[in-house]
Amino acid sequence: MIAEVIVDLALNQTDKPFDYSIPESLQPLVERGARVIVPFGPRKLVGFVVAIKSDTALEKVRPIHSVIDQTPVLTDELLQLGKWLAKETLCYEISAFLAMLPAAMKASYKKVISVADAGLFENEFMDLLFLFKNGEQIEWESLQKTHGSWLKRIKEALQAGALKEHQQVNQGQAVKKMKVVQPALTYDELKQSLETFKGRAKKQRDVLTFFLEQESPTAIAVNEVIRATNVSRATIKTLVQKGFLIETEKEVYRDPFQGSAKPTIPLELTDEQQAAIHPVLEDLDERRHRVHLCHGVTGSGKTEIYLQAIQRVLEKGQEAIVLVPEISLTPQMVERFRGRFGDEVAVLHSGLSRGEKYDEWRKIHRGEVRVVVGARSAVFAPFTNVGIIIIDEEHETSYKQEESPRYHARDVAIFRGEFHHCPVILGSATPSLESYARAQKGVYRLAPLLKRVNQKPMPPVSIIDMREELRAGNRSMFSRDLFQSLQERLRKGEQSVLFLNRRGYSTFIMCRDCGHVLSCPHCDISLTFHRKNNKVKCHYCGFEEQVPHQCPSCGSEHIRFFGSGTQKVEEALTTLLPEARVIRMDVDTTRKKGAHERFLKAFGRGEADILLGTQMIAKGLDFEKVTLVGVLAADAMLHLPDFRSTEKTFQLLTQVGGRAGRHQLDGEVIIQSYTPEHYAMTLAAEHDYQHFYLKEMQSRKRHDYPPFYYLSLITVSHESFARASGVAEQITRLLAQELTSQAIILGPVAPPIARIKDRYRCQCMIKYKNEPKLKQTLKNILDHYQGAFSKEGLSISMDIDPYLMM
Ligand code: ADP
Ligand code: ZN
Ligand code: ZN
Repeated sequence: MIAEVIVDLALNQTDKPFDYSIPESLQPLVERGARVIVPFGPRKLVGFVVAIKSDTALEKVRPIHSVIDQTPVLTDELLQLGKWLAKETLCYEISAFLAMLPAAMKASYKKVISVADAGLFENEFMDLLFLFKNGEQIEWESLQKTHGSWLKRIKEALQAGALKEHQQVNQGQAVKKMKVVQPALTYDELKQSLETFKGRAKKQRDVLTFFLEQESPTAIAVNEVIRATNVSRATIKTLVQKGFLIETEKEVYRDPFQGSAKPTIPLELTDEQQAAIHPVLEDLDERRHRVHLCHGVTGSGKTEIYLQAIQRVLEKGQEAIVLVPEISLTPQMVERFRGRFGDEVAVLHSGLSRGEKYDEWRKIHRGEVRVVVGARSAVFAPFTNVGIIIIDEEHETSYKQEESPRYHARDVAIFRGEFHHCPVILGSATPSLESYARAQKGVYRLAPLLKRVNQKPMPPVSIIDMREELRAGNRSMFSRDLFQSLQERLRKGEQSVLFLNRRGYSTFIMCRDCGHVLSCPHCDISLTFHRKNNKVKCHYCGFEEQVPHQCPSCGSEHIRFFGSGTQKVEEALTTLLPEARVIRMDVDTTRKKGAHERFLKAFGRGEADILLGTQMIAKGLDFEKVTLVGVLAADAMLHLPDFRSTEKTFQLLTQVGGRAGRHQLDGEVIIQSYTPEHYAMTLAAEHDYQHFYLKEMQSRKRHDYPPFYYLSLITVSHESFARASGVAEQITRLLAQELTSQAIILGPVAPPIARIKDRYRCQCMIKYKNEPKLKQTLKNILDHYQGAFSKEGLSISMDIDPYLMM
């Protein structure tokens, strides 16, 4: 038997299956989708079995070394999906497979050194014996750290052939184990022996009595026994030694949610909800794939629809995948699913440790849960009988992965939906233009939810013209209206949320005399000021340095920190409203695990008057006493060089606006802007998605952007600008030859960030409608340059349907 294996080496030359023979003993274990360890050249690599066949065209094949998985980790469906992803996103198949598995399962490779020729070693290298006695293998890396002075000698031994080096595969998954004990005797025997303990060893007797009191003689965690009986570890050890107890290890899951959620029951659906869910339930009954776009404002009852659709899926014995953007995947969100489906729910998001993620993944893989709620990569959940896939906040750009494989979760969901003949629901208050346009054309089914369930109207929104404020002499970052409203909330004991758009609002350092801005020496981007350690930092390459006392350009000492980050707003609040209690949430304050949740809980308990934060507070917040939402710089991202910037601004403002007055108290929203007349502002203020859609579609049409055209973006980078632009130039010419005359080929141009990590970048953008030869042409280009020119440091990336334009 022969296995076709894709090896764990992301290279052009290895992006195809290699044949290996399957040794007799391994035949029962080698299955499609299982990981194996195979020899590859002089080393060993992990690989995925993608096919099994009886013959090979090769004369000589090497045998598979060993099998990692007893149960394949990739189903046939996921193998197909991987192939498809490789083709569609122009990535290596191995990258696609690895993207489907938790990080803990990624193999790492270590170079180890061991004795190759014992005779030679004993004759000539006895001085090294202290390192290699008992046939030990030593990691090359740790040798460098601990025995630096011996490296020269080790190298000699390697050259002489007395020592050898080889790669060790570390498959890296970490199953958590727990020590448990159970009685070694039957109940009666245990009872009898307890008699013989009379008088002495009270502690030991306590433990045995504890076990006698248990209903069934199961294994109990050692820690629990210690806690319940108040004995020491030594007592248990003694009992094990005496043969009364047996100690073993049990595999356990890490539990990222201590305890369970409060159970909830399905609510009676409103007419609108009924109308929206009905076609989905039909699809479920008929096992039909369709895509439903559920367009409903926050509070319109979308989540309840998801829950009830999933309930039907479970009743049918099928499984459900729910995707939620990372930042909205809050404990409250998870609790809604756990409240309805209890232990059937697994959760996958970046807040979990590697081990926790691995455990959640294993529950899915083993079929111990049937619902997964997770961020982007949860779309690869290894379920085998998927009944529904739901993508909440479908417009979020975080559903697109920005590294290879550059996939969009929506496309993967639809692939899987077609495979399983099941519906896909996309939900949003502000659908992406692409999705809404598809719904308009009837490709997706539109399910509108126009009203909030509680019938509360959307809060009134006012837009403040900050230019006016300046003219009136107000130089503070708060307009007079916003400041007054904040004071009023404080007086009434109500809460406010202040939202600062972080992007485009960087905290840079500028010289007041010559205007020089501190920028990264390796990237064409300004450095960001971090007050905590008085340093400036590059967010692209990590470069950091102390803030200089003098301007590096003119020597002036008037070098100042500009821009209004959240820190600066916090300081301003402290000065202007000293009595206000402020919670600040941004990447800096929420870095610690659980910090995010702690802050929100504290705010929910009323421990602060103002919650100040970035994007991360725009969603999912639902607090009764919040009656004011202020947006400090609404247009900060309007002018980013990205054709989606208007759409993103509208989405963000709509979302932020939905945060006020969701309960008994009425709310208000104040948006501060320097371009108050822009339709992204005015239409968000009127909560008018339809109108926005029409206007923005006109603009997209005028500029040949999606959804009227598809885009692909090619980025070439090299240390030399001339080389990068030369290659981009060649590529542009080649594309012009290969594609139809309808394709619009732009570039090469230097992107907004023209240099990152000392490498110059050059881009070329293709706009097209129908180009049957495009993917193949791009693949050929990629093969050509990746193969021959990677050594000289040329790198090319291709982004089909890009979301990051810089
Ligand atoms: P969305 O996901 O669109 O923001 P939710 O599903 O969270 O909306 O619903 C908003 C609120 O209304 C929640 O508190 C939810 O429990 C409640 N709700 C949803 N549907 C109903 C219903 N049919 N009857 C009563 N309350 C409902
Ligand atoms: Zn200067
Ligand atoms: Zn940099």
